[in-house]
Amino acid sequence: MGAQFVTLVNQKGGVGKTTTAVSLAAALGRRGQRVLLIDLDPQANATSALGINGSGRPGTYDALLNEVSIGDCIVNVEAERVDLVPSSRELSGAEVELVPQMARERRLASAMVPLRDRYDWVLVDCPPSLGLLTINALTASDSVIIPVQCEYMALEGLSRLMETLELVRRNLNPGLSVLGVLLTMFDGRTRLAQQVVEEVRGHFSQTFATIIPRSVRLSEAPSHGQSIFRYDEGGRSATAYDALAAELLARVGVAV
Ligand code: ADP
Ligand code: MG
Repeated sequence: MGAQFVTLVNQKGGVGKTTTAVSLAAALGRRGQRVLLIDLDPQANATSALGINGSGRPGTYDALLNEVSIGDCIVNVEAERVDLVPSSRELSGAEVELVPQMARERRLASAMVPLRDRYDWVLVDCPPSLGLLTINALTASDSVIIPVQCEYMALEGLSRLMETLELVRRNLNPGLSVLGVLLTMFDGRTRLAQQVVEEVRGHFSQTFATIIPRSVRLSEAPSHGQSIFRYDEGGRSATAYDALAAELLARVGVAV
């Protein structure tokens, strides 16, 4: 069986896409799963969070636009047991440069064909938009995880996201499913956070049981170039992301 290809998507910025991509990749890696993380955001936050500098080396831009084989872009981040296709600032041009390309929505899917059997999981971190980069990720994916911040206006933009998923299903990738909605940055001391949890669970039956707490540790880890599993091993957030990994494995039918 080929890899489970999962995209972290929400066009809203700051909801925990990158944090989840990096932490979940590390959690699955530590559980012995073969994981590839693809950084599809020109801000390259997932790349730097893993301690890698994406400039001056081949990455997602080259795989999408320079005919470089994506296998030649992979960096093995040994300390996290994760392989990474890094991003860099250069990728910000891709949104425009992809427009005149042949099969522009399928560049990532095509590039990934030879790699799918090498991994158990491919995770894609997306920019905060529904442009061509995100469409490439959705076209290549089996499913999406939608991180939602436990804050005011949590559901804002989700109906548009659902419409986009439906358009991708209809035109590009009929098999695309929602693996789950993930509640992030939960602060149990506020009533608002509790209300958001109930509201999101009421709207989306696929909401994960695991909730990611708000934690200073989690926001500090990227500046050290370490996943939460190295920066704060055994801490609350590491435990939560490991629970999410277990839930994911159970959802796709891998015994844990
Ligand atoms: P996105 O990729 O959706 O823009 P990020 O994962 O980069 O979101 O998160 C936005 C900011 O919030 C970052 O500074 C990140 O470190 C911080 N952050 C993410 N998740 C948490 C959390 N559970 N608790 C505290 N801070 C978090
Ligand atoms: Mg991000």
